[in-house]
Amino acid sequence: MIIPKTKEEIELMRESALIVSKTLGILAAEVKPGVSTLFLDKLAEDFIRSEGAEPGFLGLYDFPNTLCMSPNQQVVHGIPNNEPLDEGDIISIDCGAIKNGFYGDHAYTFAVGEIDDEVERLLKVTKESLYVGIREFKAGNRVGDVAFAIQQYCESNGYGVVRELVGHGLGRTMHEDPEMPNYGRRGRGKKFVEGMVVAIEPMINMGVRQIRQHADGWTITTKDNKPSAHFEHNVALVNGKPELLSTFAYIYNALGIESDEEDEFRSQTLVL
Ligand code: MG
Ligand code: MG
Repeated sequence: MIIPKTKEEIELMRESALIVSKTLGILAAEVKPGVSTLFLDKLAEDFIRSEGAEPGFLGLYDFPNTLCMSPNQQVVHGIPNNEPLDEGDIISIDCGAIKNGFYGDHAYTFAVGEIDDEVERLLKVTKESLYVGIREFKAGNRVGDVAFAIQQYCESNGYGVVRELVGHGLGRTMHEDPEMPNYGRRGRGKKFVEGMVVAIEPMINMGVRQIRQHADGWTITTKDNKPSAHFEHNVALVNGKPELLSTFAYIYNALGIESDEEDEFRSQTLVL
C-alpha cells in the first residue's frame, strides 16, 4: 500500500534527504586514489550523527556499515573495507540517514581521478536516465511509465539495465510501496498518488544486465565484470509534479561543477 505524506511530513523527509546530500558532498571532496572506503564510511557516520541523525543502513537487514560502497564492477550493496581506491576506479556510494523517524536514501557514482572515456559515458548516461525517469513521476502516470523511460534511455545507449534490484517508496521505513523498477511497460503498475515519496535509482551496467550475488550475502557484481553505475534521488509528488527532496548540489560544489540539471524538479530555491 502506498503511504502518501502530508506537507509537514514531506518537509521532514526533505531534512533527512538533505543530510544525505550533505554527506555525499563531504565525501565528494575525499574520494581520491589511496583513500579506503572504510575511511569514507567513518567520515559519513560521524557527519550524520553530528546532524542529529542516525545512519540509515547501519544494522538495517544487518548491514554492517553506514555506506554501501560499490567500486567498478560492483553494482550495489558493497561493504566498505581497507583497500585503497585506485586512479581510474569508479565508486558508487549509497547513503541513508534517519531523522525525525523519516529516511533519506540516495546515491552517486564518483570517478576516482581520471577515468576512461567509455566509463565516463556510462556515468553520464546513467545519471541522465535518472532525470528521464523522474520526469515521468507525475500525476496520471504509473510505475511502468518511469520504468519504461529509464529502460528505453539506457538500452538505446547500449547498456544493461539491472532487473533484480529496484527503487522503492520511502518514508518511515526504508523500503515502502511501490517498488520502482528500472525496466517495464508504459501505463502498467501502480498509479502515482499526491504526496507519495519515492527513491528512483537506476543501476546500469556497461555490459550485460545480469548480476552475480556473492557469498558474503551483500556484494553484487556484474556477471561480465564490466563496470556498473548507480544514481539515486528522493522525489515527492507535489501538486502533481516531481519535487526533488535530495540534491547533488553539495557534490557539485565540492567538485567545482556547474549544473542546472535539478532546476526543473524544484519548486523552491535550494539554500545550501
Ligand atoms: Mg540507496
Ligand atoms: Mg534506495
